[in-house]
Formats: sequence, C-alpha cells, structure tokens
Amino acid sequence: TQIMSRGLPKQKPIEGVKQVIVVASGKGGVGKSTTAVNLALALAANDSSKAIGLLDVDVYGPSIPKMMNLKGNPELSQSNLMRPLLNYGIACMSMGFLVEETAPVVWRGLMVMSAVEKLLRQVDWGQLDYLVVDMPPGTGDVQLSVSQNIPISGAVIVSTPQDIALMDAHKGAEMFRKVHVPVLGLVQNMSVFQCPKCKHKTHIFGADGARRLARTLDLDVLGDIPLHLDIREASDTGQPIVFSQPGSDEVEETGLEDSIN
Ligand code: ADP
Repeated sequence: TQIMSRGLPKQKPIEGVKQVIVVASGKGGVGKSTTAVNLALALAANDSSKAIGLLDVDVYGPSIPKMMNLKGNPELSQSNLMRPLLNYGIACMSMGFLVEETAPVVWRGLMVMSAVEKLLRQVDWGQLDYLVVDMPPGTGDVQLSVSQNIPISGAVIVSTPQDIALMDAHKGAEMFRKVHVPVLGLVQNMSVFQCPKCKHKTHIFGADGARRLARTLDLDVLGDIPLHLDIREASDTGQPIVFSQPGSDEVEETGLEDSIN
C-alpha cells in the first residue's frame, strides 16, 4: 500500500518523523498493543535502514514498557525534550516510563490531554522513518486529539472475530474516516486456536468476523493472527514474537510485514 500523509490545517508534524501509523481498536484486550509492538519490529526487520519508533499513548493502561522490556525515566535532551528508551532497535516512549508501574492513572480529562500533548510534542525522536502509535481503545478524546494534531499516514485497526469487538472496530474505522485518516486495513487477532496436543482447531471468538467487516467497509485484511501461547508468553516476557521467533508459523501467518510496505 502506498501511504500518503494528508494534512489538516491544525496539524503539525512531529519533528523528525516521516510517517505515523496508528494502531487502534474498538475494544480493549483484543491485541492492539501486541500488534503495535510486533508491527514496529516487523518494519525494522524488513528494512534495517529504516529507523522505527513506538509511541504508547494508551495513557490509562500503558503496555509498551512490559512488552518491550523497558523501564526507567527518560533523560532530557539539551532542549528539554524526553529521550526515548531503546530496545530491539526501536525507540520507545510511554506514559509507563513516567509514572509508577502500579500507580493507577486517576486523571481528569484535561490532565490526560496534557499528558498526550507531552508525548506528542516533547520527545526527541531524532530521525524516524515510521512512528507506530499504540492508541487507547475506543473512540474518545485521545484518539480524536491525536488524529487532529498530527498528520497520520494511516490507521491499522485490530479486532478479534467476535461480534462485540467488531462492532467497536467498525466505529473506530468510521471515526478515522471522519477525521480523514486513511484506514490501512484490519488485523484479525485471536482468530483460531490449535490444540498443541491433538491439533484440533477451535475458533474461540468466531472465524471470519474481521473478514466480513473488512468487506462491509471495503478494507483490506492486513493479517490474521492465531491465538497462541507463544504470542502471549513472548509479550509477557518482553520478547515480542517477531523478535524472538521471527521464522515461526505464528509470525508467518500474520502477513503483517508484507502488507504494510
Ligand atoms: P490491547 O492492547 O488490545 O488491550 P494486548 O495487546 O495488551 O491488547 O493483548 C491482551 C492480552 O492478550 C495480552 O496478554 C497479550 O499478550 C495477549 N494476546 C494478544 N494477542 C494474542 C494472541 N494472538 N495469542 C495469544 N495471546 C495474545
């Protein structure tokens, strides 16, 4: 897919960043962060000359620190910008680096917006070819504000094949269309579980829901990811599957790497 940036008048690019890809979902827990992390790693693996960043604006439930095995306070640059933390060659920034891991984020709307503003504007990314942004789930203030403040090359929407997740994914896709962000396509996650013992395949959340939704919305299915223990373990141990098992069936099956470029 050839990705084009479309600017709205209020939008200002993030300094040094060429393309922004947001990863969004209607519902929480469908694998949005897992997709964002592995997409960033896949983009880096696909072309080592490209500089990739990962920005976690899921301020209520930041997952990137754990998934990317990163912790700590970002240093400040001379111009008082936060320096991203680096792992697996990916520059990362997350609210999780700025607040205690177990501290609940109990913020009013304005505080959330100012935190998002900081994450968008006060990070020294250097030069990036792609910045992958892990959005919060849903279609609220944060999603709107990100979409209206920076030019976004495209949105990837993640859903399980379950009706309730699809309904919310549909709303997500409509929201991006309203704010003129091109939707690159849908990723269907947790579509099938294969019993490691008897090899029987079960469609725990349904089989082809995201494919049907993609047809309805005239969108591509960018990848289809099975529900697999290795994916969960890889995320939980901070060694994302694209990094730790690059040749595995689970990674091959996603097709993510090929479809974005
Ligand atoms: P979201 O960002 O949508 O809230 P996450 O990416 O945090 O979702 O995923 C929720 C949980 O499900 C995590 O523990 C993650 O490791 C796990 N998970 C996500 N996708 C898969 C998958 N395909 N197979 C197994 N576990 C998965």
